[in-house]
Amino acid sequence: MIKTNVTQANRQAHGLCVMCGKEDERTRNGNTRCAACAKKHAQTIRERTEALRKMGRCTVCGKNKEDDGWSLCPACRERSREQTRKHRAAHPKKTQ
Ligand SMILES: [Zn+2]
Ligand SMILES: [Zn+2]
Repeated sequence: MIKTNVTQANRQAHGLCVMCGKEDERTRNGNTRCAACAKKHAQTIRERTEALRKMGRCTVCGKNKEDDGWSLCPACRERSREQTRKHRAAHPKKTQ
């Protein structure tokens, strides 16, 4: 069953937080999570990234990779480079 996805899509369509179903300033502005859940989610991501980094795995896809001093595997590194390139092309005035 893909019930969860349906619920999430429903909540999103109604401007509600996809995690707890509440509405706040953030969800009204088009965010998929309320302030509290966004914070929780960011913390989860941080913990996951840190755990993967400690295990010497790619922090994006979680795959085993060579210990080459990078936090991403070559494939994710390439993808991240491509995303940066596209972003720069779409926002030529921002030099970040
Ligand atoms: Zn929430
Ligand atoms: Zn990867």
